Amino acid sequence: MSGTLYVIATPIGNLEDMTYRAVRILQEVSQIAAEDTRHSRKLLSHYGIGTHLISYHEHNEEFRAAQLIEKLQKGESIGLISDAGTPCIADPGYRLVSRCRQEGVQVVAVPGPSAVVAALSISGLPTDAFRFVGFLPAKTHGRCQFLEQVKNEQQTVACYEAPHRLLSCLADIIEICGADRLIAIARELTKRHEELFSGSVAEALEYFAQGPIKGELVLLLGPAPQQQPEGTVKDALSRLREETDLSWKEIIKRVAKEFGLPGSEVYKESLELR
Ligand code: SAM
Repeated sequence: MSGTLYVIATPIGNLEDMTYRAVRILQEVSQIAAEDTRHSRKLLSHYGIGTHLISYHEHNEEFRAAQLIEKLQKGESIGLISDAGTPCIADPGYRLVSRCRQEGVQVVAVPGPSAVVAALSISGLPTDAFRFVGFLPAKTHGRCQFLEQVKNEQQTVACYEAPHRLLSCLADIIEICGADRLIAIARELTKRHEELFSGSVAEALEYFAQGPIKGELVLLLGPAPQQQPEGTVKDALSRLREETDLSWKEIIKRVAKEFGLPGSEVYKESLELR
């Protein structure tokens, strides 16, 4: 019987955000794979956890994953943590989890904090669907190329950004996505200086340009504004009828979607054209 790999979330700032279950499992596993063992030793000692720690980070991921799989296959259970938040979310862990899945080793999530989810939950931006892209490219050229791809995104785009790059990043967003695009910036979540800025990108640039920007950040770019369709509903119905072989049913569906109207309303207008 192989053991279990527990993927365990830890606090992103506030130590009270550790779950009871995380503490119990971290005490019970035979060892804990941690990104930075010195950092994690301090965190774990706060909860009285003395379990053996080994390093698992982006530079030794492949080699360590092989070692850990061997232990798991022998029946040991192992906890995986990162420096903060949920492992594998813009953090190491993917290789190990993926290897476990291939080898039939059980992987169990012990959920808890993640900066992106915490930021979304308080942003006031649409969250029914969102796109998380990890860290933005560090240099302007790559960042602008990336922004071109999300310029017309209809969902909130979430990313992590370093404080020293925030102003140039906001300037690039203005350049590509426009100064009026909505943005929310969560800083130092769960910590003493927590704040959430919400407004247009131009307002964000003005606000953050005022002083030194410190701490950790999550950027949430609001969905692109819906393009207003040109002309009337009747124009759109006639155009599709003339230019396509679509059935009336399909035409009505498309026009209703384009104008954000109920199908029954568009159906009524179509009757006058038939
Ligand atoms: N795995 C982590 C998670 O689930 O949140 C994220 C790890 S990623 C290497 C670290 C980045 O997350 C930081 O650079 C920052 O952008 C964001 N972050 C982490 N803690 C944060 C906090 N308390 N407030 C705002 N952003 C935070």
